[in-house]
Amino acid sequence: MRDQLKRLEDLQRHDAKIQELENALKAIPAKLVATQNDLARVEALLTSERGQLTETERYYTEQKNQLGTDEDQVSGAKHKLSQAKNSKEYMAAQRETEARRESVASREAEIAKLVEAIDAKKKVLEERAASVQQVRDSMAKDREIADARMAEIQAKIAELRGERDKLASEVKPDVLKRYSGIRIRRGLAVVGVKSGTCRGCNMNIPPQLYIVLQRGTSIETCPSCHRIIYWEDLMKDDTKDGEASAKSPA
Ligand SMILES: [Zn+2]
Repeated sequence: MRDQLKRLEDLQRHDAKIQELENALKAIPAKLVATQNDLARVEALLTSERGQLTETERYYTEQKNQLGTDEDQVSGAKHKLSQAKNSKEYMAAQRETEARRESVASREAEIAKLVEAIDAKKKVLEERAASVQQVRDSMAKDREIADARMAEIQAKIAELRGERDKLASEVKPDVLKRYSGIRIRRGLAVVGVKSGTCRGCNMNIPPQLYIVLQRGTSIETCPSCHRIIYWEDLMKDDTKDGEASAKSPA
């Protein structure tokens, strides 16, 4: 029976480790999602800034065309000036020429500002594109590391499952069934009893049961938490698994 309990404990250790690794495995893609969101955010920013640049360039083209029209109007006004038949016409043509010239000048100033804005925006876009690339690179690296880590964990889980199945095959079917049932309900299924107290629920074991436990000839469960229990001192004389003390056998 002691062997059965030993195997159960070992089985429990395997199950706990497998559970822990499975949780770690599940957590890995979640981390990648965070980086992916970062990437989506900077990519959206880049797209929006490219849109702004396109809009500014469109406005620039429009202003350039308008400048052509303005210049034609200056020529027209100048022509009127040369054709003036009297001083009244001359004065009017001169005023028009002045006005047209002013609008050419302000249009040119506007265009100069647009050229500056376009250059500045292009510079920002270059920087932004570089930082997007940086996030992309780091994401590729993260994914590579995550894939390797996941493969490593999966291999470890497969190995532990193999060991676990072997251990399970060495436990009597009825004991294994009890273990599995308790494990689903309560997590830790096999616990020690120390000084008459169950390690699982910290309740005292009835003295009669404690005596039975000390004999170690049967599989017993705690009346309070229903976990499989064993007397800790009974397992102590075995140093095989490295965690029991080196006491001489009882
Ligand atoms: Zn208990």
